[in-house]
Amino acid sequence: MRNKENTQLQKKDEIKVKKQAFREKNIDKIKEYERTYREKNKERLKEKKKECMICECGCRITKRSIKRHQATKKHIDLMNKI
Ligand SMILES: [Zn+2]
Repeated sequence: MRNKENTQLQKKDEIKVKKQAFREKNIDKIKEYERTYREKNKERLKEKKKECMICECGCRITKRSIKRHQATKKHIDLMNKI
């Protein structure tokens, strides 16, 4: 029983060491990947920010701010004019 546990522990350590070795060996690749991932995410966030739409009052707004926009005087005034 003890032996089995030991073997399992050893295997765990082996995996840990292997992972670490892999990371060290590929640190440049990993760094590059992480940088690309961050860049991609930045682009995606920018795209999300750009998500524009036209409100029923004719104002250009982002989807995210529609609720806030619809509570503004500008929107209410414009809607009253229609
Ligand atoms: Zn509006």
